[in-house]
Amino acid sequence: MNFFKLPDLPYAYNALEPYIDEETMKLHHDKHHAGYTAKLNSAIENDASVNKKSIEEILSSLDDLDEAIRKAVTNNGGGFYNHSVFWEIMATKKDQEPDGELLAALNKSFSSFEKFKELFTEVAGNHFGSGWAWLVLSKGKLEIIDTNNQDSPISLGKNPILTLDVWEHAYYLKYQNRRPEYIEAWWHVVNWTEVQKRFEKST
Ligand code: MN
Repeated sequence: MNFFKLPDLPYAYNALEPYIDEETMKLHHDKHHAGYTAKLNSAIENDASVNKKSIEEILSSLDDLDEAIRKAVTNNGGGFYNHSVFWEIMATKKDQEPDGELLAALNKSFSSFEKFKELFTEVAGNHFGSGWAWLVLSKGKLEIIDTNNQDSPISLGKNPILTLDVWEHAYYLKYQNRRPEYIEAWWHVVNWTEVQKRFEKST
């Protein structure tokens, strides 16, 4: 069978300082993401109909799962997948900006890049409780959405382009309850090169 493997961070734990601190990255990756990965593997280990599929296949057909494991796979499979995307869309190279086709699409969908940032910040800031904010491509259109817990846009038939983890575990050590400060800081470390690649692959 196909055990899912915790991906390594694509940079050092301290690479996103001062915006996201080393201690948070260590806990977030080595404990939280590792935990989702281990629990996903244990949920599917005895189910031959699931354990040969890719994570994208699993999350896009949650209704096909045996009810006994559906909740565990939704939560931990989403946790495994969402964090894998989240690490990739951040970068050591600070203060990047989008360009090319992605910038043109953002301008077209949200009237300007600044307006897009404002709307995304608002959705991330207003999300109640644990969850994620996303820029997704849905039927060829860019949309900003939020999801609860570890729910993934893949399960809604939408392609994730950019995401921000707004669980408290993502920011509490450095920012305590100040989620808006965390969101403001996070914009500095967005990997627009990678986001652009995800956009091009999805169109
Ligand atoms: Mn997280």
